[in-house]
Amino acid sequence: MRFIFIGPPGAGKGTVAKILSRRFSIPHISTGDLLRAHIQQKSELGRQAVAYVEQGKLVPDGLVIEMVRERLKETDASQGFILDGFPRTVEQAEALGKLLREEEILVEHILNFDASNAKIIERLSGRRICSKCGEIYHVRNIPPKKEGLCDRCGGELIQRKDDSEDTVRRRLEVYRKETAPLIDYYNRARLLKDLPADLEVAELNPILDQLLK
Ligand code: AMP
Repeated sequence: MRFIFIGPPGAGKGTVAKILSRRFSIPHISTGDLLRAHIQQKSELGRQAVAYVEQGKLVPDGLVIEMVRERLKETDASQGFILDGFPRTVEQAEALGKLLREEEILVEHILNFDASNAKIIERLSGRRICSKCGEIYHVRNIPPKKEGLCDRCGGELIQRKDDSEDTVRRRLEVYRKETAPLIDYYNRARLLKDLPADLEVAELNPILDQLLK
């Protein structure tokens, strides 16, 4: 099974991706996670990307497209994948379309996470991430069993630097300008399925089951 997730930051793409990744045993490929790993490892790509990520701007298309091309070649992606946070521009969508056609790969589900601004702000301001395994929590909606620690691996929970108020505002602007046009792009090809992303995970589960039938 192959998925592409489109939606603003804080719409729940990562949370749903983690659920479906476990359900279908397919990798969750988050370009944000990949870029953060490069930045942490201080790789050449990380060095080129760090300023964009910290300021909530998009990393240049060429860099991200190459990173995704390499990631999709890995064996764990051969039977399926969830692309979370890519494509984010029409140029990226076109590059991905070309790559998929060349490799004769069919993406079964392109989901549009449709969330209100109020919900996005509430989610991002309370979001906490495990510094070790990347599991996603929320101080009120998805609290860990032990405060500040990941239920799965015991890692320390942290707030992402770019979840600060100013950077969130910038990321939402960038989404509206650069990524929202993808909704039209995929709608024209009748490929997009809308998900009411203001709902919490438990309420989304039956809707997802219905969509994936
Ligand atoms: P995310 O974890 O998806 O919210 O991404 C965090 C940050 O990584 C974004 O604000 C961008 O700076 C960068 N990023 C992630 N995915 C992409 C992409 N497809 N194109 C450009 N920049 C990206």
